[in-house]
Amino acid sequence: MKIRLFVLLFISLFFCPLKSYGNTNITLLHTNDLHSHLLPIDEKGNDCSKGENCLGGFLRLKTFIDEERKIDPNLILLDAGDRFYGSIFFTLNKEKNLSPIFKELNYDVITLGNHEFDEDLSVLANFIKDTNTPTVCSNINFKTNDFLKKNVVPSIIINKNGNKIGVIGVTTQEAKLSLQKEEFDILDAKEKIKEQVENLSNQGVSIIILLSHLGLNVDLEIAEQISNIDVIVGGHTHNLLSNTIEPNDGKYPLFAEHEDKSKTLVITSGALSRYVGKIKLEFNDDGKILSFKGDTIALDDKIGNNKKIDELIGADLKEIQNTITEKIATINEDINFSEGKNYCSVNCPIGKFVANAILKMENVDIVFINSGSIRAPLKKGEVIYRNLFEVLPFDGVLVKIRMSGKEIIEYIEAGLRKYSDEYRTNALLQMAGGDYDFDLKTKKVKSVNVASKEIDLNKVYTVIVPKYIALGGDSFPKKEIYETLKNTANVYLKQNLKNLSK
Ligand SMILES: [Zn+2]
Repeated sequence: MKIRLFVLLFISLFFCPLKSYGNTNITLLHTNDLHSHLLPIDEKGNDCSKGENCLGGFLRLKTFIDEERKIDPNLILLDAGDRFYGSIFFTLNKEKNLSPIFKELNYDVITLGNHEFDEDLSVLANFIKDTNTPTVCSNINFKTNDFLKKNVVPSIIINKNGNKIGVIGVTTQEAKLSLQKEEFDILDAKEKIKEQVENLSNQGVSIIILLSHLGLNVDLEIAEQISNIDVIVGGHTHNLLSNTIEPNDGKYPLFAEHEDKSKTLVITSGALSRYVGKIKLEFNDDGKILSFKGDTIALDDKIGNNKKIDELIGADLKEIQNTITEKIATINEDINFSEGKNYCSVNCPIGKFVANAILKMENVDIVFINSGSIRAPLKKGEVIYRNLFEVLPFDGVLVKIRMSGKEIIEYIEAGLRKYSDEYRTNALLQMAGGDYDFDLKTKKVKSVNVASKEIDLNKVYTVIVPKYIALGGDSFPKKEIYETLKNTANVYLKQNLKNLSK
């Protein structure tokens, strides 16, 4: 079957004639990659409450959803996964702060992101139990957790205003990089989606939505390759589709048109609770889309705070107050950024300190940290728990990989590619276990030492890197992960500072 993808069309110019009655109208509100961002954040990811660039937070999300629900009885609220990790609330209290607040939003259906597997499966099970949210994922097979086996279903049928709407879930193979990987299998996404589309069609369901945590490129492939899906609500790659917000990753919605002229729309709305996507859809009797209109909406400070959520977050903040003000250590000297800079570049004491803290507790040859993950220095005097989060706000997961000496040089050079003396180069690698020197002009490595010896090009070294870059983030080559570490970088930093103070 020959199908074409019209991803570059100006959707806003696209109109279909509307029929006057007999058609089905539904509205989708959707989020993805919320990453437990209960509070608004600015563009640097720091908590904020006011200002042009201060966006999001569950306080505003709830206000927005309530208003929309009031005016539209045909609304379906969906989340495409990765609710776990990203804020101090989740890091400290796992699902305990997140669940009661997420429950207030009353999502109709959610799917699972890879970060939902970062913790023991009981955390995910508790979240689903406590929030009582219908959860769909067609390409997972839970082997150990009976609750998840029973309660995460491949697809569900929602009844809206007398209409049946099928929602299928699907998640990424990256879920298998978790420590809990032996407890479940991730099956072929496309195969399982096709199975569910057929299954729903056989039950007379003609309106089908795919809730996907596969990332935008895969969603576009599916839109093109699998017919009979009306809308793909996506997540995972944090793309912002919008007709009004700049910069964006494409128009809202993108879509593929099939041979029979039916369309599959693809929508996704940024990340970190800053945006909500909203699309109004009109279907004919056969469940084909007649018209659509929508965009991504920024949750700015014009949207008021919901009182109930405000109270819940207030109580959580009070509860974690003791923890975040906990005294970790007293240090006698500042541990700074690179001299004269307000970020980590070459010769960055705080970068080296973090990498060394990890190396001291793990039996590997080298630790590399991308400079972009380090966001604050440590000031001399008392260090409290909150300061550690300022240094490493993303508190990323760490993994072990293996590289030959030759590959290590290529890896360092991948980090140097965009190096500039004038501005922050997120990919620049901070190294523990050795040192490297490079040519500022050619951005080529001049020398690398490991354990005070020149690097052996043929020897295979064990290396810890943030999972983010192992997966290809910051333009690093993708690497095969052979172990995910239980502790995140903050844990090593904390322990090392404690040891220093003893
Ligand atoms: Zn994800």
